[in-house]
Amino acid sequence: MQPIQELYPLLATPRKVVITTHQKPDADAMGSSLGLLHLLEQLGHQVTVISPTNWAGWLNWMPGVDKVIDFELNRDRVATIINEAEWLFCLDFNIFHRTKNLAPLLAAATCTRILIDHHQEPDVPNFSYGISDTGKSSTCEMIYDFIIGSGNEDKINISIAECLYAGVMADTGSFRFPSAHASVHTMVAHLKEKGLYHTRVHENIYDNFLENRMRFIGHVLLNRMDISYEYNTALISISKKDLLRYQIRTGDTEGLVNYPLSIQGIKLAALCIDRDEERKWSFRSKGDFDVNTFARKHFEGGGHFNAAGGRSSESLDETVQHFIKVVKEYALQLQ
Ligand code: 5GP
Ligand code: MN
Repeated sequence: MQPIQELYPLLATPRKVVITTHQKPDADAMGSSLGLLHLLEQLGHQVTVISPTNWAGWLNWMPGVDKVIDFELNRDRVATIINEAEWLFCLDFNIFHRTKNLAPLLAAATCTRILIDHHQEPDVPNFSYGISDTGKSSTCEMIYDFIIGSGNEDKINISIAECLYAGVMADTGSFRFPSAHASVHTMVAHLKEKGLYHTRVHENIYDNFLENRMRFIGHVLLNRMDISYEYNTALISISKKDLLRYQIRTGDTEGLVNYPLSIQGIKLAALCIDRDEERKWSFRSKGDFDVNTFARKHFEGGGHFNAAGGRSSESLDETVQHFIKVVKEYALQLQ
């Protein structure tokens, strides 16, 4: 993988470009994809953003989201577009299987693949150019660096600023995680100078749910959360029945795993959701408990040191029992 800087001189020649990201894109995935779209379009490229799956309704305010193609609803069209692409940007993921059913098409693509991502253990041989930096707060910050590094500071407009701010805000937990380095605040100051109205972004993302989602959170925190002070761990498991009862849709469970971390002493929070095709785990930790390694070792997953995800094909009950068992091995680290 050649350094991303090697790509900068090539940006001057217009190309057919595809941008894609991980399945069920979150604010960082969608924000970085659309931020890059708005840059590349100004440079004269022909750009298509492809999402492997659908996404949460609370991302639909983002400038340019109406142009994003959902692969699951447009499989043949996406195959043609990838076939014709000269460049394929992969943002906010670093291994093809994070794009679910889109993965075989990405793996088979003969065009130049470019990685911009901040997760651990990138599958580097699959990319010709790129940057993988786990020290970065978000992929949106990396797109900002890309814009500045390639000499396109003057292209930053309100659309780009809103998209990039959303991703940085979400991935830093509204600027509270250790990843909110000085560079993040410097970037935000710059976006503000460009005219960003950040309050609107917060409202669009965090004050944009339906009543059922709030009721669902109440139900989950009251009835579905178990706390073990012995292991300073909180475990939430959500059945299909719960999802149906509260008409939970993509994105409604986002952020739920963070709630237990506000309980005094809790160092590890785990959330398991019974999805149709698999049981999906989310892990969050505080301090020096490494959930990336934990998720990789026990739940076929990964992510970051303090935020990771995983999966299981066992039943909800079985995978929850498995979690309860393996957590005991970490009693010392969780003290
Ligand atoms: P979330 O819990 O919000 O779904 O994911 C937390 C973090 O872990 C995100 O950065 C996400 O990209 C990553 N992640 C989630 N699920 C998986 C997974 O199954 N495999 C890997 N490698 N990373 C994941
Ligand atoms: Mn991210």
